[in-house]
Amino acid sequence: MGTSKNGFDKKKFNRNTLHPIRFPLPFFIRNSIFFLNNIFYNRFGFGSRFSMKKNVLFLCLLLLPTMLFADIVYQGKRVQAWPEEARPTFNNQRADKPSFLLAQIPVTQNKSHYAAPKGKIYSLTLLVDFPDKVAPVSIGDVKDWLNKEGFNKDGCNGSVRDYYLDVSNGQLDIENEVFGWYRAKHPKSWYENLQGYTGSDSLMKEVFNYFDPLVDFSRYDNDKDGTTEAINIVYAGAGETWGQGLWPHSGWSSEKRDGVKLTHHQMTDMPGKFSIYVFVHESGHMIFGWPDLYWYGDYCTMGNRAHDLNPVAINDFYRADQGWIPFVDVTSNDVSLETTKPGEVCYRYKNPARPDKEGLVWSYVQNKGRNSILKGSGLLMQHYDFSIEGNSASDKLGLRIVHASAAGKSSDNVKDQWPNPGSDASTFFKSGTYSEFSDDKYPAIRWYNGAKTGLKITDIGTPGETLTFCVGGNCSAQESSSSSAVPKSSSSNASSSSSIQNPPSSSSQVEIKIQKIAFDVALKLDNNYGYASLDLKGDDVAKILGISKSEIASKVKFYGVEPDGTLNSRTTGEGTGHWFDKDGKIVAWDPNGTSMIYSNVDLTTMTTKIGHMPNKVKAGDSFVIKQALVYGSKQVTFEFTVTIEQKTIKIVNVRKAKIGKPGNMIFNALGKPVGVRNANGTLPDLPKGIYVEMVK
Ligand SMILES: [Zn+2]
Repeated sequence: MGTSKNGFDKKKFNRNTLHPIRFPLPFFIRNSIFFLNNIFYNRFGFGSRFSMKKNVLFLCLLLLPTMLFADIVYQGKRVQAWPEEARPTFNNQRADKPSFLLAQIPVTQNKSHYAAPKGKIYSLTLLVDFPDKVAPVSIGDVKDWLNKEGFNKDGCNGSVRDYYLDVSNGQLDIENEVFGWYRAKHPKSWYENLQGYTGSDSLMKEVFNYFDPLVDFSRYDNDKDGTTEAINIVYAGAGETWGQGLWPHSGWSSEKRDGVKLTHHQMTDMPGKFSIYVFVHESGHMIFGWPDLYWYGDYCTMGNRAHDLNPVAINDFYRADQGWIPFVDVTSNDVSLETTKPGEVCYRYKNPARPDKEGLVWSYVQNKGRNSILKGSGLLMQHYDFSIEGNSASDKLGLRIVHASAAGKSSDNVKDQWPNPGSDASTFFKSGTYSEFSDDKYPAIRWYNGAKTGLKITDIGTPGETLTFCVGGNCSAQESSSSSAVPKSSSSNASSSSSIQNPPSSSSQVEIKIQKIAFDVALKLDNNYGYASLDLKGDDVAKILGISKSEIASKVKFYGVEPDGTLNSRTTGEGTGHWFDKDGKIVAWDPNGTSMIYSNVDLTTMTTKIGHMPNKVKAGDSFVIKQALVYGSKQVTFEFTVTIEQKTIKIVNVRKAKIGKPGNMIFNALGKPVGVRNANGTLPDLPKGIYVEMVK
């Protein structure tokens, strides 16, 4: 397990500029109507009235002792999720001026489903050891474990603070203030052997009483709503029995100190070796109120205990719910070719019948950094239903993984991922076997009332630095219609320019004088061998060769030119034509092979038709291909630089837009050109808004 940090880009999103924008732009509508995108960066508008399901059975868990979850304990009993009256809350409106990011982002209404603290959070950690189990580490070590940037003792991937900084894109900075060690009244065994969690309750009261004169508990009520957000009790030694004694858990209490309620705390063991899983998992319960994600697999640290030293990230759905990354809402009307980075955004498709409760969400998950433990990469899709509290082992989970490998199956067994194999490469959607999600392909995936979802995602690409996919089907039509809007090339199939250059070299062997004519060809994406016609400047060629134009067809020899200049007399295209691969080598036509670009020359008219293999090229691709005419000791080489026409990129945040190619044209939301990128690649001065860039 690597210890690399930063599973996520620390780029921060400024929600202040994220407005719902619809994009059926006149500018882009040429041959067909399409929606470039339909972006809503809204957050959840859910209320918080949820009923607690009382009779949750945990028998199934007892049968699986290898997967020992740390639980939520409410009034001495294990529960699957906090009951309504005990749910963690965080009043962002009254936040006590957290310094971290809120200076830039005005606090918005807290509409997250779960408690969503922002900025700097002060957390209290109290240390306790026992007469029969003394402190195995120093208070300084504990401070480092919880706070120190780059903490790596015993192989930890950063401190607890590092973990939450990473998964929150730097938006949540949890600083633990540590006190201890307090020596408990009884031996550890005494607490461990009491019924249920009575022992931990007893220890908790002891610890609170001891530290009361030393600690101002009200300091840990960060938003001053009368309730502390984070109190941790770390005890010496290892947890012993699951569900009993001091077993690590997140607990509730009615204790009150210094005028604040100590409603939530968590208890974590310190066996002497450092690991951060338990602390970050319990913090997930305690601070945010997230439930244990049973039957979910390794895809979130609230799911399986996937790795103690480098715990897997918080799933992107919860991250978006926190506002750490934006939601991108998709409706059944949208057609859009999307490109996304790992963990950058969470796409959401709500059940139109229950938009506040149920939906499908997906994001690009890559098995790197915080997600190194995962066995694959690609689009990870999930189905959520907020009316289902917790995540019990039933057919209907509050949050479940939609397995790509469930294609064609009538059921998607939620239990497949728990406890084994934990995660699986076949869970992820990507090019190849599982490159499409649709109701037809996934008969097992329905809204919980049985209705089809209506969501269609196709052309899911290969996981790399980014991942591309098409929402709504038929993105290639969109692509070609968008490129047809490029002003320069709207009048013909191709724009070309040529220049005649002096002979750059001559072959000493046969003393052939070579003259080169260069062409720039812009090709549209076309699924049926569509081509651009090009005038090969027969008059100029005839002059160079010393013959008349009408003699060319009968007198000259025609060749393809390999990248190294070798002449190839074999024609592989139609008539006097060639197919070329991506490097410009002459190859045979083969839709399943390497042939990419063709140039079919007509020597009588001195024109050529240049096109590309369907479904093999993408916007922005560029190729150099060469063909030549030889007459006597003279050779004319045609060098075609073929570029598949540019595509569009939407710019959502002008101030945070990356550097782009100088000269790229920028259009506003009405399709009106508003400028070009500066020579250093930055955007021209633009007011806040959404723009579209034509990528060269
Ligand atoms: Zn748990």
